[in-house]
Amino acid sequence: MKNFIARVIKKRTTHDRFVYLKLSLLKPAQIEFKAGQYISFELSGEEKRSYSIASAPTNMSYIELAVDLTPGGVGSSFISSLTVGQEISFEGVLGEVTIERGQNDQQLLFVGSGVGISPLKSMLEDLLITRLDQRPITLIWGLQLGEDLGWADDFQKIAQERQNFELITGADREIVDNITKLARFDETWGAYVCGKPEMVAYTEKQLVNQGISRDSIYYDRY
Ligand SMILES: Cc1cc2nc3c(=O)[nH]c(=O)nc-3n(C[C@H](O)[C@H](O)[C@H](O)COP(=O)(O)OP(=O)(O)OC[C@H]3O[C@@H](n4cnc5c(N)ncnc54)[C@H](O)[C@@H]3O)c2cc1C
Repeated sequence: MKNFIARVIKKRTTHDRFVYLKLSLLKPAQIEFKAGQYISFELSGEEKRSYSIASAPTNMSYIELAVDLTPGGVGSSFISSLTVGQEISFEGVLGEVTIERGQNDQQLLFVGSGVGISPLKSMLEDLLITRLDQRPITLIWGLQLGEDLGWADDFQKIAQERQNFELITGADREIVDNITKLARFDETWGAYVCGKPEMVAYTEKQLVNQGISRDSIYYDRY
């Protein structure tokens, strides 16, 4: 694992709860990672907190993060206190739930809620914009009020440009309803799921009931 020094070049807070950060790499000047991976901040008392990289791996000079401040512990306080121009350090990169896990699946489903959209955004940009992946790809995204972090428009644009990408948004509860109603996911699909532990558990159950193999469900829980 490597140490990185970066500068906060953008910070936007919405609904006093969600923080979008853009960090520009200083030392080293670039970061190599796989879509789906995360970084870790060492905070006071040697506590560590992890945050998924939301930007695509082609952008090696900066990373984007999306943080929910609701837990209110040392991680939330640290993110909340950051100011534009500040230099910060982090460790990275970590994580096994990368886009390579689903490389043998014929179709891909992404299910995200809250800031769980973060690693999915990186993976989808990598697949649909960089790799021009031709497989059918569906994103089911549970948007709560203000949680779109400005990314809903980006996904709409990709959906308009890429025939093989379907975007389904709704409230958190509707995510699960959509999966059940659509009822068209079978053993040919792989699924990436990211969100709160209870959402991930419930979604996994629905997907297994529909025929997706448990081995083809890749998830991160925060
Ligand atoms: C691999 C990985 C990637 C992650 N990526 C992200 C990310 O991209 N964005 C992000 O925001 N977080 C992410 N997290 C979670 C993050 O690392 C911290 O756990 C989170 O920010 C809370 O840290 P804290 O110090 O503020 O709160 P803590 O001190 O850890 O928790 C404070 C209190 O809040 C409770 N709590 C914890 N989580 C929640 C919650 N979701 N809602 C309500 N209460 C809660 C805890 O039980 C505790 O009582 C990730 C975690 C992992 C393991």
